[in-house]
Amino acid sequence: SDSLTVAELAKKLHREPSEIIKKLFMLGVMATINQVLDKDAIELIAGDYGVEVEEEIQIDVTDLEVYFTDDEAAELDERPAVVTIMGHVDHGKTTTLDSIRNTKVTAGEAGGITQHIGAYQVEENGKKITFLDTPGHAAFTTMRARGAKITDITILVVAADDGVMPQTIEAINHAKAAEVPIIVAVNKMDKESANPDRVMQELTEYGLIPEAWGGDTIFVPISAIKGEGIDNLLEMILLVSEVEEYKANPNRNAVGTVIEAQLDKGRGSVATLLVQNGTLKVGDPIVVGNTFGRVRAMVNDLGRRVKHAEPSTPVEITGLNDVPQAGDRFVVLSDEKSARQIGESRAQQALQAQRSEKTKISLDNLFEHM
Ligand code: GDP
Ligand code: MG
Repeated sequence: SDSLTVAELAKKLHREPSEIIKKLFMLGVMATINQVLDKDAIELIAGDYGVEVEEEIQIDVTDLEVYFTDDEAAELDERPAVVTIMGHVDHGKTTTLDSIRNTKVTAGEAGGITQHIGAYQVEENGKKITFLDTPGHAAFTTMRARGAKITDITILVVAADDGVMPQTIEAINHAKAAEVPIIVAVNKMDKESANPDRVMQELTEYGLIPEAWGGDTIFVPISAIKGEGIDNLLEMILLVSEVEEYKANPNRNAVGTVIEAQLDKGRGSVATLLVQNGTLKVGDPIVVGNTFGRVRAMVNDLGRRVKHAEPSTPVEITGLNDVPQAGDRFVVLSDEKSARQIGESRAQQALQAQRSEKTKISLDNLFEHM
C-alpha cells in the first residue's frame, strides 16, 4: 500500500514508534503514533535505516486493458483478418464493401434480409475475412484515441480516374501510425478515364511502391460497381493474412472492442462487438466500457441467433444495463458479481471524470471572462 501509520511503519522497521516520531521531528514533521505517512515520508524514513521500500505492484482490475493479456503460443489458433476500408470521399469505399458482401453472401444464406451490424464476414477459399463496415476514418480516430487496435489490414481505395486526394493521404497516415499493412485497391477501372499508372506513380511519394517497381505494396485493380477484381482483392487479403499469421486463443474469456451501439426501443441497449480474443457466449457476465450486464442474446452479421462467437467475429448483443460507446473495450469475467462491481466502479469513475471536466471547463470559462 502507499500509506502507513507511524505505528505500522515502526513495526515494519522493527523500531519503537517513539524513535520514528523523533526522526520525523528532526525532519521538521510533528507526528503522532497514529499519523498516516505518505509514500515519500515512508521512503525517507526507511531510507534513513538503510531499508529500501519495494513498490507493491497493484493491478487495477477496473482498467479493462489488464484483461487483454497475451496467451501462450501453444494455445493460439489461426483467426480471420480484420479489415477496414479507407480512402477519399466518392472513391468507392461503400460500393467496394457492398460488392464484397454481395458477391460472397448469398441472399438465401441471409434469409433475404441483410442485417446491418457494422461489420460482416465473408469466406474466400474456405477462409473467413472480417470487414468493418464503419467509415474507416471514424473507426481509426475514435478507436485509436482509446488505444484500441482492432484492424489488421487497411484497404486503401483510390479511384483510378481521380488519383491521390487529401483523404487518401490522411488514410495512409492513419494506417502508418497504427502500423497496419495497406493493400491498394485501384477502383473504377471500368471508366475510360481510368489511369492506374498515375495512381501508382503518385503513391510512390508516400512509400507505397508496387512489387513490379521493386516495392512491397500490393495493388489490385478493381471495378467495385461491376464486381470485377473483388475475388483477387480477397485473395490478396488472405495472402497478407498468411504472412502475418493472425492468431488468438479461443479457449479463454472473451475480450474485444465495441464497433457501434445504440438504444433500441424494444431490445434496450444493443451493441455490436468485435471479439478479438477468446470466445463470447450467451450468458457470459460482461463489462463493456462503463457499463455491464450478461449477454442475453447474440445475433451474427446474417441476422441469425448464435450461442457463441469466436475470435475476429462481429456479433450484436443485448443484455447490457446502458449503452456503451464505439471504441470501448469489453471483457468477460468469470462471475456476475465481479462484472457488476467493476462495471459500477467504472461508471462511477466516468461520472467523476465528467464532473471534474465540467468544473475545469467552468473555471476556464471564468478566466476567459476576467
Ligand atoms: P465512398 O464515398 O468512398 O463510399 O464512395 P461510394 O461507394 O459512395 O461511390 C461514389 C460514387 O462512385 C458512386 O456514384 C458510385 O456508384 C461510384 N462508383 C463506385 N465504384 C465505382 C466503379 O467501380 N466504377 C464506376 N464507374 N463508378 C463507381
Ligand atoms: Mg461511403
